[in-house]
Amino acid sequence: MAGVIGHPVRHSLSPVMQNAAFAEMGLDWAYMAFDVPVGGAPAALAAVLALGIEGLSVTMPHKEAVAAAADDLSAAASLLGAANTVVRAGDRLVGESTDGPGFLEALAADEGFDPAGESCLVLGAGGAARAVVLSLAEAGAAEVVVVNRTAERAAAAAALAGSAGRVGGPEDASGARLVVNATPLGMDGTNGAGATALATEHIRRGQLVADLVYNPPVTPLLAAAAERGARPVGGIGMLVHQAALQVRLWTGMDAPLAAMRRAAAEALAARHS
Ligand code: NAP
Repeated sequence: MAGVIGHPVRHSLSPVMQNAAFAEMGLDWAYMAFDVPVGGAPAALAAVLALGIEGLSVTMPHKEAVAAAADDLSAAASLLGAANTVVRAGDRLVGESTDGPGFLEALAADEGFDPAGESCLVLGAGGAARAVVLSLAEAGAAEVVVVNRTAERAAAAAALAGSAGRVGGPEDASGARLVVNATPLGMDGTNGAGATALATEHIRRGQLVADLVYNPPVTPLLAAAAERGARPVGGIGMLVHQAALQVRLWTGMDAPLAAMRRAAAEALAARHS
């Protein structure tokens, strides 16, 4: 048994992806969504031990609380102060962070992109942005520019990239090889639907423009990027790869990426029909 904790959690695509993975791998595992209210993360972790659950995915609003309550943390989860994954190791619970590595693996697998030596710009300074900034810096990006509505949060996120990190403005996007939207702007069901986090005149031909938002699959930012000759990259690749890394952490086996991606895409398409 594995599962996801979050609040709300009903919309999560994790159960369809993870159950598709376990079925394809021939594992007798089940994956459930658990709606855990704010403040409930420590009790949920106690339940993992009591019930012998092998692992958890962790989504909003519990990522920081899980990092605080876990017995051990990976280096990335410790630096971020947030965990999106729990792995049970006997009677100890280890907090891990697969968002940043999942983002980079998706870019490598789908676009052949390696951030080493590249200039990158990240819009947003929340949990997902911080994970992406840290991973880009660890992968050797020459520069990681953070652009965010709230200046102090931008500075804290940029600091995760060490000497490669700095706070910038939207105009810096024109000098970046990779532009990443890590805000919810453009997401269906929010006030940001239809909005972009970047004035699109800063996008130019030859750039990769990645949106972490995966619903809708083509956000206004991605549509504008394609129009301006940049390469648009949707959020579903990261979603699948961060989940595949969780499967590997829990089972020790490689995850069936194609089956997971198909399950996620079908579930998203069903929501739109
Ligand atoms: P979060 O921690 O709440 O951070 C949100 C960030 O967006 C903050 O920096 C916030 O700025 C900024 N923001 C929010 N509304 C804004 C607005 N109206 N105008 C300008 N900036 C705004 O959220 P998160 O967990 O990082 O998630 C961000 C997005 O990434 C979500 O859409 C989430 O679904 C997506 N995501 C996707 C994946 C995937 O696998 N594809 C994984 C994780 C997250 P302030 O600092 O000023 O508040």
